[in-house]
Amino acid sequence: MTEYALGIDLGTTNSCVSIVEQGKPIIIANSAGYKTTPSIVAIAESGKRLIGQLAKRQAITNATNTVYSTKRLIGRTIHDPEVQNCIATLPYEIVEGPHDDIRVVMRDKQYSLPEISAMILGELRQVAENYLGTSITDAIITVPAYFNDAQRQATIDAGTIAGLNVLRIINEPTAAAIAYGTQNKKRQTIAVFDLGGGTFDISILSIDDGIFNVLSTTGDTFLGGEDFDNRLIEYLVLNFAREHDIDLREDPMAMQRLKISAEKAKCELSEMKSTEINLPFICTDAQGAPLHINTTVTLEQFENLVIDLVKRTLKICQVALMNANVTQNDIDEVVLVGGMTRMPLVQRAVAEFFHKQPAKNINPDEVVAVGAAIQADGLIHQGQKHILLDVTPLDLGIAVHGGKFHVITPKNTTIPCTNSVVFTTSFDNQTSLRIVVLQGEQQQAAENQRLAEFTFSGIRPGPAGSVDIQIKFDVDPDGIVNVTAKDLQTQHEHFVTVSRSSNLTPEEIEQMTKDNADYLAAEKMNADLKQAVEYLKLSLKSLRDLNATANLPAPIANFTRNLLQRGDDLVKSPDTVVNVNRMTDDINNAISLINEGQ
Ligand code: AMP
Repeated sequence: MTEYALGIDLGTTNSCVSIVEQGKPIIIANSAGYKTTPSIVAIAESGKRLIGQLAKRQAITNATNTVYSTKRLIGRTIHDPEVQNCIATLPYEIVEGPHDDIRVVMRDKQYSLPEISAMILGELRQVAENYLGTSITDAIITVPAYFNDAQRQATIDAGTIAGLNVLRIINEPTAAAIAYGTQNKKRQTIAVFDLGGGTFDISILSIDDGIFNVLSTTGDTFLGGEDFDNRLIEYLVLNFAREHDIDLREDPMAMQRLKISAEKAKCELSEMKSTEINLPFICTDAQGAPLHINTTVTLEQFENLVIDLVKRTLKICQVALMNANVTQNDIDEVVLVGGMTRMPLVQRAVAEFFHKQPAKNINPDEVVAVGAAIQADGLIHQGQKHILLDVTPLDLGIAVHGGKFHVITPKNTTIPCTNSVVFTTSFDNQTSLRIVVLQGEQQQAAENQRLAEFTFSGIRPGPAGSVDIQIKFDVDPDGIVNVTAKDLQTQHEHFVTVSRSSNLTPEEIEQMTKDNADYLAAEKMNADLKQAVEYLKLSLKSLRDLNATANLPAPIANFTRNLLQRGDDLVKSPDTVVNVNRMTDDINNAISLINEGQ
């Protein structure tokens, strides 16, 4: 049995990995010593992938080949208006993929978004494997509660491409509640307020003796720290345009520098009343003279720029309470998740809204990964200690006459669940019915996400309205939807499991998985070769020293010189690990022979 499983918080801005070791969840620090890793990927000029801290460090000088915030785009189509907004502000190139999907371009090569996420997941897996000294494949990855099926499937695809076995995808706020609830065992109702880099989620849960029951969950997948940064960037760009009549948005490098400074300033304003933004040589004017940004931003100014974003989160909280059938007074504890909840304005607004101070002693950056690790550990080791009752995040239903969406399983229904409706035939001798399964919240069928489509044929012929057809939705604990259409008189039925569909075909996923594995194997080969060359160098030095000090007979001295020459040549252009190791062995044998002969 596998001993360890990863809990991965795959964030918009930062990601985090946790495991349960000897019954205790721990966050594993990366090689730089940080417990979170930036969700940033770049391709260096050499073609090497740079991930996390390394990618972030070179983001300014390699702006067009550095990709970040892809979680905001994953599982969406290129025509999505939110995606079009992003294209306008992101410095890297985004193009249309073969299935209306999104591809990002780095060094002339197109990458799907699951491939980008797979690189981050691979890095986190490596972090854990380095720590444990063993290989790990099982993982739970968290997603915003409000992610739809395509976004969830795209996240599973990312795990597959990274070579992981995704045990389950769980909602971030639910994971946070698990981490919180396993420490605080008393019966209570909690609100998890999760404002991360790109998304906002709010979930209301009841926790009772290891049973986590999600009462409601809602959110906005386009509301997060990036929007706060963008407000500050817009403010700086506008002021600069007023002063110099230059639009910095047309300069990717300037925008990348602005982005980094804006985020830094935002974080500083969580601790200070004002902060300086200094960006020397941000661009040049028409005469080629350098221009700079040198300004002070006060906390008050910043709060005014973003107050409407904070208010938007509270409106969504109101909906979450309503959906859960509770009021602020029923909430025993508020758990803050996500880096943005460090902002004092957010904390004040949440405290005011829920009439109580949020829970202390919870690290908002780590709590989601910890919850995922606890759940993953429970799944791989039998005798799971807690039960998770999650809910459907969006309405599920079918398309009906007039292009309308008929909801069969409303959002926030606890899963597993079964719901059904009965329709009658709409014309005489109708023998088949086309069923289009949808997910979303729009009244018009076409505006929702299409999950599946099938024809129920073999209906008993009869006058219009005389045949009853039951459409039943079963949603299993993993959120997989099974749809059954049944002629109630004849009991003839048609059963379909809605397999989650992402924007990639199985063949593409297979190819991407192979490409990823090939790249990693080549990288490992390079690392192994480097190490082998280092060992060879050490042996060469020993032989050279021996050759210089020992008075060797002419044939042996010749042989040694020849060996040294061949060894030096191999150090200059090493070919394979095997050949380099063979040469090291030859040299070590020569050293032994010389020593024995003395
Ligand atoms: P997460 O997705 O949870 O990693 O949250 C990342 C977001 O939190 C980013 O937008 C960060 O800029 C933001 N963040 C991190 N630390 C702070 C802080 N001290 N004050 C304000 N925002 C922060």
